[in-house]
Amino acid sequence: MPNSQKRKATVAPAPRRRPPPRMEYRARSDEAWYGARVVVQDGWLRVMFENFPEDADEWYNPGADLASPGDVDALRARFRRACLALDDAHCGDLRPGDQLCLACDMHGGEIKYYDAVLEAVEKAPHGTVDGEERCACRFTARWTEGPRRGCSDKVGVEVVCCVQESPIQDPVLTEFLDHVRNRFGDGQEEATAASQQAAPSGEGEIAPVSSLTYSSSSLSSSF
Ligand SMILES: [Zn+2]
Repeated sequence: MPNSQKRKATVAPAPRRRPPPRMEYRARSDEAWYGARVVVQDGWLRVMFENFPEDADEWYNPGADLASPGDVDALRARFRRACLALDDAHCGDLRPGDQLCLACDMHGGEIKYYDAVLEAVEKAPHGTVDGEERCACRFTARWTEGPRRGCSDKVGVEVVCCVQESPIQDPVLTEFLDHVRNRFGDGQEEATAASQQAAPSGEGEIAPVSSLTYSSSSLSSSF
């Protein structure tokens, strides 16, 4: 997800070549998607938004906010791998039905990101600006979230991000969620093995052992 237009400038704009966030999070406050990272602090999960001040952080208290396995799964579903801005030269890769994340122009000029499904692509000849290909196609997408949910809009490449199917790999988040999840139910050992081998966020891609080990030891003091 692009960093550049995330709310009015209470902080300096991000440098243009800054690496994109690896993970994004659907905020509780507005259900929009934001680049984010997490830490565990005093046993709570702290979600910190890219390019936002500390007071925007969202916190999860395992005792109060995560009272059932369903709560844990719902929190897990708030995270995903960061979307990628649609590359002008690769607009032809999109197909109807693809899941997109679009910049939504809120009242007052604020931009937020919500998901939509691609319905159609209206092809147009691409131009070139400063030696770089520029897509001139128009994309019709139906919002599945946000204030325009259910509506279709025709948009340009500049507001289109592509939702990544691959799972996130964030050892801190995975460790925290698995730890909380394992407090429920009696098949604790099975649950631990299952969540590390086949959780929705980890299937087929296991985080490097060194990261898990590190995060495991760093977390143990917090719980
Ligand atoms: Zn195009």
